[in-house]
Amino acid sequence: MKAKLRRNGFFWVLLKMNMLPVVILTLVITTFSAARFATSMSVEAQNGLVNLSQTIVTLYDTVYKGDYHVENEGDTVTLMKGEQVLNGDCTIVDSIKEKTGVDITIFCEDTRVITTIQKSDNVRAIGTKANNTVIEDVLKGGHPQFYSSTMVEGVKYFSYYEPLYTNDGTCIGMIFVGKPSAEVEKLVFDSLNPIIVFGMLTMLIVCFVTSQFSGKLVTAIRTTEEFLAMIAKGELHTELDADVLKRKDELGDMGRDLIKMQKSLRELVEQDILTGLYNRRSGEILLKMASENYQREGTPFCVAIGDIDHFKNVNDTYGHECGDIALIEISRWIEEHMKDRGFVARWGGEELLLVYDNMKLDEAADCMKELMEEIRSQRIMYGDVTFGITMTFGLAEGNGMAVEHIIREADTRLYMGKNSGRNKIVYEAV
Ligand code: GH3
Ligand code: MG
Ligand code: MG
Repeated sequence: MKAKLRRNGFFWVLLKMNMLPVVILTLVITTFSAARFATSMSVEAQNGLVNLSQTIVTLYDTVYKGDYHVENEGDTVTLMKGEQVLNGDCTIVDSIKEKTGVDITIFCEDTRVITTIQKSDNVRAIGTKANNTVIEDVLKGGHPQFYSSTMVEGVKYFSYYEPLYTNDGTCIGMIFVGKPSAEVEKLVFDSLNPIIVFGMLTMLIVCFVTSQFSGKLVTAIRTTEEFLAMIAKGELHTELDADVLKRKDELGDMGRDLIKMQKSLRELVEQDILTGLYNRRSGEILLKMASENYQREGTPFCVAIGDIDHFKNVNDTYGHECGDIALIEISRWIEEHMKDRGFVARWGGEELLLVYDNMKLDEAADCMKELMEEIRSQRIMYGDVTFGITMTFGLAEGNGMAVEHIIREADTRLYMGKNSGRNKIVYEAV
């Protein structure tokens, strides 16, 4: 008997109990680690940009001596370093971009005069302007600034702006170093991927293992519960699943105790207290099963009712206790005889019901003759007293008629045997 999982049952409770903390913990740890990692990567990228901007400043100082200053001629602004005109000379920034992949722009005031950035028509974005936020923060505010997302020529940049000063401390331009945000995000995401995958994988494995354990435990509980329900309904022959009985935990102990309880109940309900044979109720059920078997598969069977001859005399002569002992002994002989042939039940006071499975009348009669010999040869001992007993049997064949009819026929034959001298088997039609 295997149980199915029930909605709102133990399985889901256990699953929630075990998995929910794992899922929450994994999500929290993964998110926290990912956030920490992303922050540290972003700080690293920022430091990289700061270092690069300083390298550019140093490089320009080394290559071109003198101070930065601006020359205005009409609308045109020219950025000078010493005597050197810097406008349009992109050799240095191009070579740095080639090595680092970072875009560089040098602004004269708010105008790009040197840049690696190109416009959509592939022409350098020289002459284009810085956006207003940058002008306010860096050019006018005079502070270096990071932007995780600034738009330059339609591309989002992760960028750093450093102000450029003249000798007298006037801010006359800026250096921009930046990477397209998509590249930085991709870099961060690629680095985070293993952390996320590892976190999710751990969570899945823990969930799978937990569900396996919970599933087994709950199946055992449900199986035991269903077994108990069947016992409660009076189905005392129900079998408990072997997997439960094999368990070494408390559930296994409970299963084994339930089997003992089932056995005790069956003995109480099915057995006769004095002789240990099946009682009349069980006899009737088993006989009905034999009859159904005949109807279903045509398996023959025979029914005998036996009664001890002059049993009253035994009680009267040696006492009721001796009568009981005799009954127990006789039951034991007959039970032994019926082994592998069918079954015997206590039908009434000293009357027994014998059912021969898979036998026709002649074969059953032959068996009964052996039994008669056995009974005749036995002695009952009670204290110093020994005595023999005899029995009379009425035997009938199961023939598809109702069970009550077959019993009546066997009973009538028993009656005939009693009336014609006892100590015999009657199996001829009356
Ligand atoms: P016969 O069957 O041969 O006609 O004679 P009998 O003396 O056996 O008559 P009957 O079958 O009518 O009597 C049955 C007796 O069996 C009466 C009763 O006291 C006795 N008996 C029935 N059940 C028990 C029992 O459990 N213990 C004892 N000791 N005696 C029992
Ligand atoms: Mg009798
Ligand atoms: Mg009787």
